[in-house]
Amino acid sequence: MSIIVQKFGGTSVATPEKILVAAQRAVAAKRAGNQVVVVVSARGHKTDELIDLAHEISETPPAREMDMLLATGEQESVALMAMAVQKLGEQAISMTGAQIGIVTDSTHTKARIKAISTERLRHALEAGKIVIAAGFQGIDDQFNITTLGRGGSDTTAVALAAVLKAAVCEIYTDVEGVFTTDPRLVREARKIPRVSYDDILELASLGAGVMHSRSIEFAKKYSVPVLVRPAYSDGEGTLIAPHGDDEDVVTGAALAKAEVRVSLWDIPDRPGVMSLVFTKMAERKIPIDMVVQNVGSHGLANVSFTVEQDELAETLTAAQQAVDELGSGQVQHGTNLSKVSVVGTGMQTHTGVAAQMFSSLAKAGVNILMITTSDIKISVLVDRNQAQASLQAVHEGFDLHREQPALPPLGVSQPDDESDETERDREERARDVVSRLASMEDIVVSQVELDADQALVTLRGLADVPGVAAAVFSANAQAGVVVDMIVQNVSQSGHTNISFTVPRNDLEKSVAATRTAAVNWTGAEISFDREIAKLSVLGIGLRTHTGVGEKMFRALAEAGVNIKMISTGEVRISTVIDLPHGQAAYESLMKAFGLK
Ligand code: ASP
Ligand code: MG
Repeated sequence: MSIIVQKFGGTSVATPEKILVAAQRAVAAKRAGNQVVVVVSARGHKTDELIDLAHEISETPPAREMDMLLATGEQESVALMAMAVQKLGEQAISMTGAQIGIVTDSTHTKARIKAISTERLRHALEAGKIVIAAGFQGIDDQFNITTLGRGGSDTTAVALAAVLKAAVCEIYTDVEGVFTTDPRLVREARKIPRVSYDDILELASLGAGVMHSRSIEFAKKYSVPVLVRPAYSDGEGTLIAPHGDDEDVVTGAALAKAEVRVSLWDIPDRPGVMSLVFTKMAERKIPIDMVVQNVGSHGLANVSFTVEQDELAETLTAAQQAVDELGSGQVQHGTNLSKVSVVGTGMQTHTGVAAQMFSSLAKAGVNILMITTSDIKISVLVDRNQAQASLQAVHEGFDLHREQPALPPLGVSQPDDESDETERDREERARDVVSRLASMEDIVVSQVELDADQALVTLRGLADVPGVAAAVFSANAQAGVVVDMIVQNVSQSGHTNISFTVPRNDLEKSVAATRTAAVNWTGAEISFDREIAKLSVLGIGLRTHTGVGEKMFRALAEAGVNIKMISTGEVRISTVIDLPHGQAAYESLMKAFGLK
């Protein structure tokens, strides 16, 4: 028999009517022949209200009592839900975190799970009961009630699904699912039937947050299929699974509206420089977004990044300090900017994705100010007045509004039947799940990757007008070259540089195509470097963890490695370095991030 975990968020259990609707879903799943675990959050704004209440009593409520208080929100929900299920004629039992056997450490208000004993849960399931589990809470080994941090019910649900090896973890919310872009910005936005873990992580970081990113990373690690569905209708929602829809090269587009840019021009091009710059930013806890460094010239490098508008003054001060310490360079900035991105796992294997994006923008008359890519994302910086038009153009250019064929019913992608799983396997998986949960907040970088099979092409002195990037990458796509990392920094005195990597075997083809497209047209200079390596760190939350870039660049500086190019994303930060340094640089990063 399959196990299904259903999680209902606060809005989906806000009123008695909604609780009954939710209970009907649980009952329907049970009657379809499944064992059902329901995880619930506190009703409506309950958790916020409880927090406010506590602060009316004390400015610094003790964390232990805070957890005692907050846990009541979920306790109320499980009791009501169990009553609703029983009213509908099925057996149900509500359980608190403690009763399920979720043991955590004693870090009140952001506790980490140390163990989950599924025995009681399984017992109840086997007795034919629907188990209603309180999300967000656990108990420490002194029997104190703990909570897992805001939004923690998603974590409870995905963790239980992983431990129980559930066929699916259904997340019921107040939206139809995941969309190709924000429907409030682009009317033609379409709900995506199926999306990969990586795409959703990248999209979430670009502002399309439906679920807590950490719970998705967790689902990814244990291949838990997650179905995000509307609680209020029969909508089929979006399935988050190892692979997205095969037909889709690009999954979605996103807009970050209020960005400003800070650039450091003509700083020394030698090891340690990027480390210094990023340390200055990290010291002030400035979250930097789009980082772009392209290939330097005459011993000088330029780096640009975007930050939130509010951080501009602070960032300029930090940047000036960096320049002063380096003894050369200028700080410059630009305001009124927006970032437009497309995301899709499919772009790793398809040519012409960048060309398509840049052509759509060129057709809409948009000048691209900066470009950065990761393996599943392309981001460009544009003038804010053109932000809306850019998003619209890109959405249309990739046909993202196009209807998809209907999804095969769930069940096709269910994990293997667990019938031949032994008790020992189960225990082992539970231990594995738990140890992963315990270190979830620490693990940011999970992998370092060295790609020694690429070469670098650089164009200097390109005219800064719409259509240049489109021409360059259309020519490469037509020549059948899969372009990987693309970096364009902002222009200086009306000219701009673009650098990109291609498979080393395709270097000649790429250079020839690029020459015909760009050099003849704009009089730019082309150069190439056969001996480069691409070195990346992979993980989650990289973009928003100020410390990751700092650590990465410091490790490379200490290993004496010069960084030629940088690009960033949510699940990857990549650099281009000299090939002979590749292996040593790889090892220094493995060591810096404590990986084997
Ligand atoms: N009730 C908790 C919160 O509001 C947990 C959750 O909803 O996931 O953060
Ligand atoms: Mg690619």
